Amino acid sequence: MKKSALILTFVFSSLLLLLTISGLAHTQSPANADPVFILPGREPIDSGGGSLDLPVDDLSDAGRQAIQAELNQNMAQLAVDGLLMTDETTAVSLSWPLSASNGLDDYGYHGISGFVDHDSRYGYLLDYACGDRTYDVVGYNHKGTDFFTWPFAWNKMDNDEVVVVVAAPGTIIGKRDGNYDRSCAMNNGDWNAVYVRHNDGSIAWYGHLKNGSLTSKSIGDTVITGEVLGVVGSSGSSTGPHLHLELYTNATFTTLVDPYSDNCNTSSSWWQAQRPYDDSAVNKVMTGSAPVEWTTCPNPTIINEKTEFVGGDDIYFTTFYRDQLAGQTSQYTIYQPNGSIYDRWTGSISAEHYASSWWWWGYSLPADAMSGDWTFEVVFNGQTYETTFQVSSYIHITAPAGIVFWQPGSVMSITWQDNLPGDVQIDLLKSGIVSTTLALATPSDGSYVWTIPMSSSIGLGYQIRIADVTDTAVSATSQHFAIGSQEQFDNLFLPLTLK
Ligand SMILES: [Zn+2]
Repeated sequence: MKKSALILTFVFSSLLLLLTISGLAHTQSPANADPVFILPGREPIDSGGGSLDLPVDDLSDAGRQAIQAELNQNMAQLAVDGLLMTDETTAVSLSWPLSASNGLDDYGYHGISGFVDHDSRYGYLLDYACGDRTYDVVGYNHKGTDFFTWPFAWNKMDNDEVVVVVAAPGTIIGKRDGNYDRSCAMNNGDWNAVYVRHNDGSIAWYGHLKNGSLTSKSIGDTVITGEVLGVVGSSGSSTGPHLHLELYTNATFTTLVDPYSDNCNTSSSWWQAQRPYDDSAVNKVMTGSAPVEWTTCPNPTIINEKTEFVGGDDIYFTTFYRDQLAGQTSQYTIYQPNGSIYDRWTGSISAEHYASSWWWWGYSLPADAMSGDWTFEVVFNGQTYETTFQVSSYIHITAPAGIVFWQPGSVMSITWQDNLPGDVQIDLLKSGIVSTTLALATPSDGSYVWTIPMSSSIGLGYQIRIADVTDTAVSATSQHFAIGSQEQFDNLFLPLTLK
């Protein structure tokens, strides 16, 4: 399917191409085949999800040869200047070439969209593990590893949230910056890239970087593992933000390296710690005010993330996966602030593999949804992921209301509703401070009958307060009234919703 989309690329015009592989989401419904909801009466109001088209790239032979010529010229000059390291025999050991930045604290931020294609014939795909997670186009066999950012690749690029870092130390032998970085199609444009020669003479190409984000270091400067080279972008012939990492054993550029090792690439792995072929994980769990709105390339996604709610709001729970496989069951749980389960369900996909997928369910929170910190938890592939959201508290006092006479000996019925997770206390305040606690540890949504003592001092400045026993700042307080007077209040208790 991936392959046929790429064939289209070269048959139709670039306008159609943009529509075909511009990174538009394709969605599926119903989401996550056959979810099973544990608690009756808690069915979601809506659900959805799907997988995104993955970014691909293209580098013409002419473009590749031009880069190689430029790098050889630079290296010749560096050798003259004595800036090229003597080749060492120690094999290169690659660290992960991406890093989260600028406050991004999601569980994950990447996926692999394409490995090196080991079958040089057009239309035949073979990755290092004998699978087909690679691509080719006419005249181009994918020669690198593509790391895409996920979810919200354009937002991440705009916010500099995922940076390309040096995978193995060496010397910068080339830099290319200043090129357009929001490509949505194969366009034969120049990319922004940094080229690093390792101390064993091997060479790494870090391509498609964001315009203007490149390291300020110059050709001839050395770089160490983990050092930032730039921001993941979509410069050059590319359909979306990703890093293309391409490796060669030496400056002749005749021997391409696939850093991954398995049955269809039996040379030893170049990774310090090679990640699994199916690196199944959750990148992000999120609550929102609406489903995510995927936009056309290269516009940032309308994420609709939200973490603060009041009872009655609609809330959307979304999970973003990488390498989600058939047979992997996710267990989703919504916990109320007191730890009890609001709802729990499971789901799995029927498709064999999604490099990037997302699934969401929308709920209408009940009007009396418990106040406090709720948790949305996803258990997937042996790992637990979670996010919290807040529901605001309220205490609505419903009686006494209207015209009330506060006389010693009067029987006052005080009633209220709240959404607090625990008990409330009822206090009589005089001049703003607690004069008497009338009732302690009273369950939520209750009533309390208060007989005003005959011994009460006549006077002004009284208030009734109903407060959370664990935090009396969470409270509703009446207007001031006088005991023993004939004062009347039309609105003794003002409706209150508290944060
Ligand atoms: Zn690539």
